Parts: sequence; structure tokens; C-alpha cells
Amino acid sequence: MQLDKATRAEFARLSNEIAAAARAGLALPGTLTHRRTRCGKAGCRCTADPPVLHGPYWSWTRKIENKTVTRYLSDAEVADYQVFFENAKQLRVLLSELEALSLAVVEARPRPARSNRRSD
Ligand SMILES: [Zn+2]
Repeated sequence: MQLDKATRAEFARLSNEIAAAARAGLALPGTLTHRRTRCGKAGCRCTADPPVLHGPYWSWTRKIENKTVTRYLSDAEVADYQVFFENAKQLRVLLSELEALSLAVVEARPRPARSNRRSD
């Protein structure tokens, strides 16, 4: 299918950036946060007034089969994996840009006549 010059240029930019991001290394799904938590145990300092929370901990959350799964990571693990999270995030941004470009191309195309529709 024929693309106009501006679309071809944008596609070339995106495909180069996606290839570069994929070559840059592994990509980890989910979100990494550094946060303080409450264990909720009676008498713990985290339930005091004012509360003294635990942590901060590095928390990695992601969806597995529609369930949110959390795993705590050590500082050393974060040092190793942080680039993988950033890489995946960059790939998601680039992929959504490629999808937006593709949708714009498809939406700009004349629609076929309704008489082509099946009538079963
Ligand atoms: Zn606690």
C-alpha cells in the first residue's frame, strides 16, 4: 500500500527508533516504584499515631493474567534492571506512536461502499 512522503518519513523515524530500543537490551514489563509501606500488624510502628512506615522498598508491579503481582527488588537488582524498565517504557511509547500513525493512515483512506457488506 502506497504511503505519502510525510508518512514514510515518520514511519522510517519510528522504525529506526524501535530497532535501536530493541537492540539496546532487555525490556521488563510493569512499573517500578520506590515506596514506604504498612504491614498492618497490630502494635507495629506503622499503625502508630503518627505512623512510621516501613521501607522505602523498591516495588515492581505488573499484571499477570489480569492480576496485579508485586515483587520487591533489592537496590542491587534495581541497579541491574532499571535500564530494562526504561527500555520497555520507551518501546511502549514508540509502539503507541506507530499505532497512532497507522490509525491515521487507515482513517484517512476512503471507506468502501456499503454495498460491499455481507448481508447474511
Ligand atoms: Zn508494620
